[in-house]
Amino acid sequence: MALNFDKLTKIIEGKTKVIYKNPDDPKTVFMLFKDDITAGDGLKHDVITGKAQVDWQTNRDIFEYLNRKGVRTHYVSSPEDRVSIVKKLDFKINLEVVTRRVAAGSILKWGDMVEGQRFDPLITQFHYKDDPLHDPMLDDGFIDYIIKAKGSTEYQEMRDINAQVFEILEHAFAQFKLQLIDFKLEYGLIDSKVTLIDEITGGSFRLWPYAKDDPNLQQENVISELDPKGRLDKDNYRMGGDLSTVKSKFEAIAELTRNFKDLA
Ligand code: C5P
Repeated sequence: MALNFDKLTKIIEGKTKVIYKNPDDPKTVFMLFKDDITAGDGLKHDVITGKAQVDWQTNRDIFEYLNRKGVRTHYVSSPEDRVSIVKKLDFKINLEVVTRRVAAGSILKWGDMVEGQRFDPLITQFHYKDDPLHDPMLDDGFIDYIIKAKGSTEYQEMRDINAQVFEILEHAFAQFKLQLIDFKLEYGLIDSKVTLIDEITGGSFRLWPYAKDDPNLQQENVISELDPKGRLDKDNYRMGGDLSTVKSKFEAIAELTRNFKDLA
């Protein structure tokens, strides 16, 4: 029987999802995907009919794969279209945790980097989640001080989970001749443990096809090996692409992640 969200208690509504109480289980909540798409800290906004369904599917397949790989996540199940059940948070950590393999996007503006520069080891940065303040980045030196001086383990745990998830998904997408360029993850505390939360969809990462059959992805700069114009991710929307193209790229991601269930 389909859930009737008019009868459920809304806990919070965000830009792309709504969270409802689960009357049958106080330890979990319902996460309902929306058709909305936003960029530029919410300044650009559209509605793409059917996007919720596509994102729900991508998110389901990625989180089920991560759970299978032993990552600590909030994801429980996806009982019906556009709806997932996730563990209820004790505390939301108000940070966006960005990990990059290849230089692209905002780091080109502030980081004195050339597009395509490869990072090995991966680099990870914390951003304070606040649209009006444009998600300012936290200083790494200060985070290291907090870890040492205050004995905080959470930042290092988030760095470690981000790297673990990046390597799992980078390897998974490589099976389909795609390079995971970067992504943003979010965290909360569940049962006092740092846990991966939120969604992972075409809006959370950059994903570029290989430009050739057997690319050399170990070079200092890998731009010649990749095809950024064939990107499958939300940059199509950020760069002003038409909404039907944006949707078709997200559908292409969902078609790929559908196969994650068959990966080892
Ligand atoms: O824009 P920037 O290069 O900092 O983005 C890094 C990664 O984080 C990209 O994959 C982007 O899609 C993602 N991101 C996000 N939500 C934001 C900012 C960035 O998912 N608010």
